[in-house]
Amino acid sequence: MNKEDKMLSVAELEQKNIIANSPLSEADLHKAEQILLNIHDKTAEGIKKGKGPFYAEIYDAEGNLVVAASNSVVEDNCALYHAEVNTLRLAHQKFGEYDLSKHNLTIYVNAEPCVMCTGAIMWSGVKTVFYSVPSKDVEQITGFDEGYKPDWVNEFKKRGIKVYGNIESAKGCQVLEDYVKEGNKIYKPER
Ligand SMILES: [Zn+2]
Repeated sequence: MNKEDKMLSVAELEQKNIIANSPLSEADLHKAEQILLNIHDKTAEGIKKGKGPFYAEIYDAEGNLVVAASNSVVEDNCALYHAEVNTLRLAHQKFGEYDLSKHNLTIYVNAEPCVMCTGAIMWSGVKTVFYSVPSKDVEQITGFDEGYKPDWVNEFKKRGIKVYGNIESAKGCQVLEDYVKEGNKIYKPER
């Protein structure tokens, strides 16, 4: 971090409407904005290929892309294959380790992780989460059920996992709105 790189407090991040449980440098925020904007494009590309409307990337501590994956629930006929679960599985395979903690990895995803994916991230050892569209907007736009997540951002803080959300979400909402407009599948179990 150079001298010019100001650290933003949680309060300062909240003033920018960012959900945060830890401070963040301006440079890291700028990097996250660029990555999430690109992730929205990748999400849209995936939708055209029959993937679900969610896409995630995992980066190492040096900022190199390690693995990336879309949601493949419909394609693979498995309710568990959310974008985050798919990228985490690839990362575990790549490193050959069930605990990824020592690699200081960061996951970026186009939408707030659901009840399953918050659990999966917690157990993976990934250290930082950046997401774009908050669950309330995902649910409002798409009708997907994101599940019950009591205070997960603070629960992650207690476990040393940094979380930053609602970053570049306007473009992310647009991708989800297009997904719905094009008549794509909103998959959830029958109740
Ligand atoms: Zn999920």
